[in-house]
Amino acid sequence: MTLTSPNPDPAPPEETRLPSILDLNEDDLTYQVSRLGQPAFRSRQLWRSLYHDGARSFAEMTTLSKQLRSELEERFTISPLESAVELRSADGSTDKVLFKLHDGELIETVLMRYGLDGHRRARRTVCISTQAGCALGCTFCATGQQGFRRQLSPGEIVAQVLHMRRVIRAENSELIAGGAAKRDEVPEITNVVFMGMGEPLANYDNTMQSIAVMNHGQGMNIGARHLTVSTVGLVPEIRKLAREPYQLNLAVSLHAPDDESRSRTMPINKRYPIARLMHACRDYVETTNRRIFFEYVLLDHENDTPEHARKLAALLDGLLCHVNLIPVNPTENGPYERPSDRRSAVFREILRNAGIANTVRQEKGIDINAGCGQLRARALDDAVDAAG
Ligand code: SF4
Repeated sequence: MTLTSPNPDPAPPEETRLPSILDLNEDDLTYQVSRLGQPAFRSRQLWRSLYHDGARSFAEMTTLSKQLRSELEERFTISPLESAVELRSADGSTDKVLFKLHDGELIETVLMRYGLDGHRRARRTVCISTQAGCALGCTFCATGQQGFRRQLSPGEIVAQVLHMRRVIRAENSELIAGGAAKRDEVPEITNVVFMGMGEPLANYDNTMQSIAVMNHGQGMNIGARHLTVSTVGLVPEIRKLAREPYQLNLAVSLHAPDDESRSRTMPINKRYPIARLMHACRDYVETTNRRIFFEYVLLDHENDTPEHARKLAALLDGLLCHVNLIPVNPTENGPYERPSDRRSAVFREILRNAGIANTVRQEKGIDINAGCGQLRARALDDAVDAAG
């Protein structure tokens, strides 16, 4: 595994930087194309080039006239991301990329490859960031320990998926050219989870705009049921999300079944205690008729006792939900250890006996610091070391 420090060159001054066209929503894109005297179908062609074909430059968009391409080039850039570090796990299942943004901020994106698993087809899942850093300070999370830097724009969110789709497309082309697979056997990006750096619902509008782009049938065409938005439990935004037109998945980071334990690891619990959060979750299920995924990171001797499992089962009793148990990925300076397999199995068994559906999340990318915020923390440490 190699790790290179991010480029320390200063970001260009704001006035010389062109905006990214990926930050425009569909209406704004149509408006910009019409301002250049072009008919509406040209904006549809441009949209398709960006999100279906994944063009990296305007020059590649040969369905557009040369003049339109050069006018776009004068006004916009395409990708707002620059890859600073790229790592692949030893088993080849997981890639992690540290991207540098135009102002020097760093964010992380993870690509996970899952093979056929029982009745589940092969999947390619991207885990994306929605903020640079995070203000919410969960004690088990490397990002939370680094503090909040800024919101990501819609284009910065979408561009992470476009980048990983290019990686997958290149791999698929090789397989097809080598005769190892047929075109309809190799998946592109099948799932996107908003579980990287940051709290997606604290960047609500930009997250929703990025979802509109990913879900658009003439573009990336990723079904809403394959998009999972994760939240630490922002109650007003969960209620707002219930009224959105998309059939999204909602994952709530619960991580403890009572206020005392939860407030110890998740400061947000003081603002939205468990009773309020669960009330919003029950209303969400009633409004949408969709199950909620509860994320529960298992921290050795902190929240993984049989008593915690029994309390969790009581809390979720009768709710349409699924619990994802995640043995913690210890951070270098973090205070938590991963529980033994035996402790995790007992926890699971108690939930199962209470009729609460649950799975232990398949571990991926441990050797490349795939946990949220870990790679950024490491790159910053290396950059500080390099600077002496
Ligand atoms: S777990 Fe999520 S919400 Fe909590 S600090 Fe980390 S990034 Fe923020």
